[in-house]
Amino acid sequence: MMADHILPNAMLGILGGGQLGRMFTMAARAMGYRVTVLDPDPDSPAGGLADVHICSKYDDPGALQMLVDTCAAITTEFENVPAESMRFLQSRMRVSPSAECVSIAQDRIKEKRYISNAGLGVAPFLAIEKADDLAQDMSGHLPGILKIARLGYDGKGQIRVQTADEVKAAWQQMGSKPCVLEQMLDLQTEISVIVTRSSADEVNTFPVAENQHESGILDISIVPARVPEAIAEQARQMALQLAQALDYIGVLAVEFFVLQDNTLLINEIAPRPHNSGHYTIDACLTSQFEQQVRAMCALPPGDTHLLSPVAMVNLLGDIWRDDEPAWDKLLSEPHAKLHLYGKKEARIGRKMGHFNVLADNADSALQQAVALKDALKQ
Ligand code: ATP
Ligand code: MG
Repeated sequence: MMADHILPNAMLGILGGGQLGRMFTMAARAMGYRVTVLDPDPDSPAGGLADVHICSKYDDPGALQMLVDTCAAITTEFENVPAESMRFLQSRMRVSPSAECVSIAQDRIKEKRYISNAGLGVAPFLAIEKADDLAQDMSGHLPGILKIARLGYDGKGQIRVQTADEVKAAWQQMGSKPCVLEQMLDLQTEISVIVTRSSADEVNTFPVAENQHESGILDISIVPARVPEAIAEQARQMALQLAQALDYIGVLAVEFFVLQDNTLLINEIAPRPHNSGHYTIDACLTSQFEQQVRAMCALPPGDTHLLSPVAMVNLLGDIWRDDEPAWDKLLSEPHAKLHLYGKKEARIGRKMGHFNVLADNADSALQQAVALKDALKQ
């Protein structure tokens, strides 16, 4: 049976008010929905744009009850919401994605085990949950990267290691918390696929993005990805297979490693719209944030075809230095679209905004994107 559609003017609730929550809020309000943001930060990027900002912690019972009493459905913009809060809401109202899916995505050990049990490839890894686990033979996974199992993002909570002694030191440096030791792979490139799934037969994917990182943080996404069509198609099928295994409802991002021999491995998943999907705002008929609205409202996903090749560039706090970047350079280019998140303080590595450049082909979009990024620093 199809769930009842939730229609415009309904109040939609989102856990988290960062940039993803902000872009969700804009998409929802454009469609005539009202939005309540729960975020403890009084200056959160989404709070000021929402109809209602509940400025409380994610496990505040009064705040959660208010969401139950006032919202038609709930979604999340980040995977680190307390699983208990998700479960409390889920037992009382429509919540997408489910608490179970979010809890898998918030723990690298659970996530990797789930993905490989689903028959999909992941980077070879060892779980290091307690001191005893350091006694395992790690030689097959070195050189590697030690990654904290929970709460890591944008390359934070990751240390590169060459020897077993370095793994031990790194594990202690991470506070002796559960980690995974992942083998360092020789990557040909990285790609990602974003799936929208409203029900078992209402599901689609966005065009595959090619992602370039700098210091573990996404720098540029290029669409269409410059990989053979067979690789792009295989990535789409793997992402769909995972979404189906999870019985996922909502927007699911799947990050892939492409090895030198074209093998595809899943790096990680995000139970929400993803930085590598920001291109969809300007280059697809439907954005990933509209898809999040649609899925939570039990509406079918919108059409995802690419209107134009595009490159997306992240704007990190680094380029602010003493002054605002040279916005006039970017705004003078008619095919560039600027998106800023309204964050007051520009810190090194902090995601402050992004821009999309539309062009006739992916190479040209990339070339113009790099030139515009350089121009911003002058
Ligand atoms: P984000 O939140 O930005 O996705 P994250 O902190 O979750 O980042 P990962 O996705 O695990 O981190 O890693 C960030 C980047 O570091 C990857 O996209 C890739 O470029 C590089 N990287 C991570 N693991 C490996 C590996 N095993 N081999 C080679 N490169 C890797
Ligand atoms: Mg990642």
